[in-house]
Amino acid sequence: VETSNLVVAVRVRPQTEKEKTDKEMKPIINVKENEVIILTDHGQTHSFNYDYCFLSNTSLHQNKEHDQGNIYDSLAKPLLSQAFKGFNTSLFAYGQTGSGKSYSVMGNIGCENELHSESGIVPRFCHDLFREVELLLKDPVENVSIEIQISYFEIYKEKIQDLLCPARKLGGSLRVREHPQHGPYVVDLSKHAVNSFEEVQRWLVVGNRQRATASTSANEHSSRSHAIFTIILSQSHEELLDGKSHEARKQSRINFIDLAGSERVASCHAVGDRREEGLTINQSLLTLGRVITALAEQKFVPYRESVLTWLLKESLGGDSKTVMLATVSPCASHVEETLSTLRYACQARKIVNTARIGEDPNS
Ligand code: ADP
Ligand code: MG
Repeated sequence: VETSNLVVAVRVRPQTEKEKTDKEMKPIINVKENEVIILTDHGQTHSFNYDYCFLSNTSLHQNKEHDQGNIYDSLAKPLLSQAFKGFNTSLFAYGQTGSGKSYSVMGNIGCENELHSESGIVPRFCHDLFREVELLLKDPVENVSIEIQISYFEIYKEKIQDLLCPARKLGGSLRVREHPQHGPYVVDLSKHAVNSFEEVQRWLVVGNRQRATASTSANEHSSRSHAIFTIILSQSHEELLDGKSHEARKQSRINFIDLAGSERVASCHAVGDRREEGLTINQSLLTLGRVITALAEQKFVPYRESVLTWLLKESLGGDSKTVMLATVSPCASHVEETLSTLRYACQARKIVNTARIGEDPNS
């Protein structure tokens, strides 16, 4: 039964070849259905429950197509039908740097209209989206017209950079304004109409390259920034009302957010400017957690306390559907970060359960 607007999932990435040869890196995580179990060096067991748990086969025979497809089918495919119904949806990837956020959200984008076995959620979603659009447009009964636009930007130290407008030099950041009806938006953010999956792929190449360029110029930039890829789906169809033709419109936003690394400031021994970056990131990750909590408890929601949550205001809460994917490393040496990620994800899920109890069965 579909009762909740928030789905929380955990994905454990496989060990790398290098990690397999290192005792410090031995795997300590197990997954049993929707439970994640950690056995620490001190013999302690921690277990956590989520809506979904994914553990990759760590042997040489890891089936990447199966793993990537499975994550997409379970978490993002349901968002597609929600989007066509007119709901706003968001999927977040949360976790320490190197735990598989970008691999899950983006992975290999494929090329020439084709997916790759390691394509992540965004390419698979866009691939299905255009297949769905084709079917709808073919159906004479539906009589719809559909417009799809995309935007892609990142938030680094609370500043916004357009990733699809490389001409706009890094440094000049974009501002956020709040429209009285439509809510917060990024002023002058480029939006691009797309008519096929292949066109999306070309924009993803541009955006991901732009992101990578920034990461070589500023150390670890990509682990310290949030990347937000948005699809705006507009549907309209002619209706006859009292013999008069009338245009019915629906618009929904689908956001995919590759969050900054969740590693704590304390553990990275950062000083000066680097420390400031760390604090800013934690601020928005903390605010995100508090926004999700406040939404479930129907309290005051502190959207404006970070650029990230302010911009996602219209996509979090209300009838919006949200997926939180927490990614973790399987290795013993990462246990502290892993536990902190699992707790963050658990916090969100606990709240969902509380909200469910309070639900009016007649509403
Ligand atoms: P993050 O974005 O969280 O910093 P990445 O997505 O870049 O981490 O993942 C780090 C490395 O691990 C990459 O080389 C990626 O290909 C690999 N990786 C992550 N998750 C998986 C997975 N589920 N299966 C196979 N390889 C993975
Ligand atoms: Mg990444």
